[in-house]
Amino acid sequence: MTTQLPMRAKLAVSVSRGVAAISRATGRGDGSVIGGRIGLAIDPGLLARLATGRQIALVSGTNGKTTTTRLSAAAIGVLGTVATNSFGANLPNGHAAALAQAGDTPYAVLEVDEHYLPHAWSATRPMVVAMLNLTRDQLDRAKEVAMLAKLWRDTVRGRPVHVVANADDPMVVWAASAAQEVTWVAAGQRWHDDSAVCPECGSAIARVIGETGDATDWRCTGCALARPQPQWWLDGDSVVDPAGERHDVKLRLPGRVNRANAAMALAVAEHFGVRACDALPRLAEITSVAGRYAMVERDGKAIRLLLAKNPAGWLEAFDMADHTPTLLSINARDPDGLDTSWLYDVDFSSLRGRRVLITGDRAYDLGVRLTVNGVAFTHVPSFGAALTALPDGRMEVIANYTAFQQIRAELNRVQ
Ligand SMILES: [Zn+2]
Repeated sequence: MTTQLPMRAKLAVSVSRGVAAISRATGRGDGSVIGGRIGLAIDPGLLARLATGRQIALVSGTNGKTTTTRLSAAAIGVLGTVATNSFGANLPNGHAAALAQAGDTPYAVLEVDEHYLPHAWSATRPMVVAMLNLTRDQLDRAKEVAMLAKLWRDTVRGRPVHVVANADDPMVVWAASAAQEVTWVAAGQRWHDDSAVCPECGSAIARVIGETGDATDWRCTGCALARPQPQWWLDGDSVVDPAGERHDVKLRLPGRVNRANAAMALAVAEHFGVRACDALPRLAEITSVAGRYAMVERDGKAIRLLLAKNPAGWLEAFDMADHTPTLLSINARDPDGLDTSWLYDVDFSSLRGRRVLITGDRAYDLGVRLTVNGVAFTHVPSFGAALTALPDGRMEVIANYTAFQQIRAELNRVQ
């Protein structure tokens, strides 16, 4: 931890903190990325040094990792201060900055980009790795889902780390089952198209689909890979723990998917010695995560912002959204991925019968998709025009990455 660091690392921490503070003061974001980058430039071993002596959980997956990291940090917060990259800076720069900022606390929860799990594992030697889900994302540059599953599997294979993993995602189960110790959480999987075939043998995966659209059971038709018996699962608004005890999950974050994220967080926290009954009141205090889910009043509208970056994320957003006028905004800038053909992977038909407005750089791509899907819509040139077009009352906004950030900025950087 920071007090025992060699001189060069102390300098790196101090410069990193200073640069981050300057970056925040000048309105250039939370400063964690630039602060971490400069810290690592001064001392390339900084992340490993800052991680030494701490109990660390890494949280990774295609969707829900920022939220699950926040929930896990809140749960472990029962024990004391937790170092965490709460702004979604999930690469080594962000990890180094999060640990440098937090001082000497022994606890850390770090969100990790799914491609960087091996790097983060080597640098931080975590006590727990949480594996949420693996689905397609950013078609023009992300690795194939099966390749990511292999990367994860190789990272934890035979290693002394406790894995908390989603029993409902066959790709995650295949990766996690290489670890020595796993806690299985029935966290659900709405999107099945990236795990239609078995990562072990290539045979078809057979599923039993429940009322919620999630698979209640699955198994490979060609080998022994099958859904493990979960130790944690959801039952309506409750979560059931490994002792069979039920806990009401009262969150201010919407949807079943966030109750599943909470179940993952409780399973991570349990490994730090935190009881679910002590953690749950802290989870209930969270109203938004990096601008997501927050209800904002503007021009007579009660607006909630939902981020959806890939097909699985869109299905989850539809699950969270109320049946109310909805603005969809799509960009295809660098952070979004330039290829919008994924729009055809998403079934938008659950929006039928709702008042739907569309905007964003690639609104017309979305318009064609909605027409094919039989969803009526109106195009508006901007978020502001959508506010003018809609009557007072509730409004949902679902946007992909840069479109979300743009609208968030228009709402004065919703916290
Ligand atoms: Zn198989």
